[in-house]
Order: sequence, then C-alpha cells, then structure tokens
Amino acid sequence: MALIQLQGLTKQFGGLTAVNDVDFEIEKGKITAIIGPNGAGKSTFFNLISGFHKPTSGTILFEGKDITKTPAHIGARLGIARTFQSTNLFEQASVIDNVIVGHRLRTQSKLFDAIFRTKREKREEKEAYDRAMEVLDFVGLVDLANLKVSIISQEAKKRVAIALALATDPKVVFLDEPAAGINPEETDGLAVLMKKIAQSGITVCTIEHKMQMIMGLADRIMVLNYGAKIAEGTPDEIKNNPTVIEAYLGGETVAETY
Ligand code: ADP
Ligand code: MG
Repeated sequence: MALIQLQGLTKQFGGLTAVNDVDFEIEKGKITAIIGPNGAGKSTFFNLISGFHKPTSGTILFEGKDITKTPAHIGARLGIARTFQSTNLFEQASVIDNVIVGHRLRTQSKLFDAIFRTKREKREEKEAYDRAMEVLDFVGLVDLANLKVSIISQEAKKRVAIALALATDPKVVFLDEPAAGINPEETDGLAVLMKKIAQSGITVCTIEHKMQMIMGLADRIMVLNYGAKIAEGTPDEIKNNPTVIEAYLGGETVAETY
C-alpha cells in the first residue's frame, strides 16, 4: 500500500527545474532509496515532501490526504520526519538534550515554545526524557547520552540525527545521505539500523550514493537525473537498466560506490 503518492511533483528555483514532473509512490513499511548524480534534485525532493519547500506544481498525498501545502512542523506532527544532509546538531549540548530539544523544534511552530518551557511542558519533561532515552537505546547510543555532541564520532552524530527523527514518533523517516563521510564498517552498521527501523513499522526513504549498501538494503529504488525520474524498480532492475547505467552507474560516480 502507498503511504505517500506524488503526482507531477515539480519545483523550480528561478529558471532551474530542480524536480521535474515526478510521479512516484512510497510503499508503507518498505525501504525506498532515491539515487542520482549530485544536483539531480534528491534533497529538493525530500524538502518538498517534508514541507520545507512548496512545490511549484503537483500534489503530495500522505495516507491519501492532500498535504501539498502543509508546512514542515505540521508534517512532523502527521508523522513525516527527516534528517538533513549536513548534520545540524547543537555541538555544545549533550546527546540527550539534542534529542529532546530537536523534538520540540520539529513539532512546534514557534521557536519560543521550543526554547522556553511552559508549565505544561515542565510536567511533560520527564516523559520527553524517557522517550529520548528509549530512542537513544534503539539507535545504540544510550552510553553516549550525557556526552557533548562535539566529542562524539561522525558515525555517532549520524545516529543522533536519526534519533532526532525517530523521537517524533514518525510514520516515515527521510534520511538524506545518512552514510556520507563514514567508513564501510560503520556504513554496514547504519544499514542494519535502517532495516531495524523498517522492521519496527516505520517506512524508510533514503538518499545514498553508496551503491553496494543501497543494492543490499532497498526494496525499491527511484533514480533522479536533472530533476526527472529516469527509472524506478527493484535493485536488480535498476542495476540492469541501460538508461541508469549511462546516466549514473556507469559514469564517473562509480568511484564513490565503495
Ligand atoms: P541533490 O540533492 O540531488 O544533489 P539538490 O536537490 O540539492 O540536488 O539540488 C538540485 C538543484 O537545485 C541544484 O542545481 C541546486 O543548485 C538547486 N537548488 C537546490 N536548492 C535550492 C535553493 N534553495 N535555491 C536555489 N536553487 C536550489
Ligand atoms: Mg542532496
């Protein structure tokens, strides 16, 4: 069953068409990967679905409901969570505080609400702490909960970013290059975590350049090139698709595929 349905999704920045007339469905409970060369429109595609950008045209249905014009904080409440390509954590705060504050920032419209705690929020504080610990346990970071983010490894930061997304109790998480800049062994560890997320019932949609990882992980892959969908299918279908090989897999990007 489709959790998210996209029809004619298009985003223009001035004269540039970053996402061009994309029709696609994201299946519930599955792992979907978006691949394509740099500048293909992958991050923009995520920004549209998660409400950080408004589409120029096209529609976005979430559980059959039109959310095309829904802003990001409402999308987060509906169950759409994401991580960003460059991990934007509070480096001087602890891991657990990042998860707690990040949760507030994502689900509330006003910075004021997120930073200054109301009486009700103080009552809810214990609950937020417990939930954050649960999520840190899920991503394997309980032991680092009280450490400053600035001193933890790059791989642990990636896991914190995923924990932030999971803390909002999402139905779907969008991960923008979660394994960028980490070594092959750590990449395998993140793949295991993504499978665990999907098995827990949360739909996973990821952007990744590491082909070996994606081919072993994704249920379904969509390939973007110059903003347009040039292919979609199972990993085997994508690997053997001549258009994809020419545009992406066969070219210079092979060097990036660990
Ligand atoms: P990818 O994630 O596949 O590398 P992006 O979605 O980041 O690609 O970018 C697609 C194209 O849209 C690029 O040409 C990029 O320069 C442009 N772009 C992305 N975001 C913006 C923006 N906020 N304003 C103007 N152009 C943008
Ligand atoms: Mg990107």
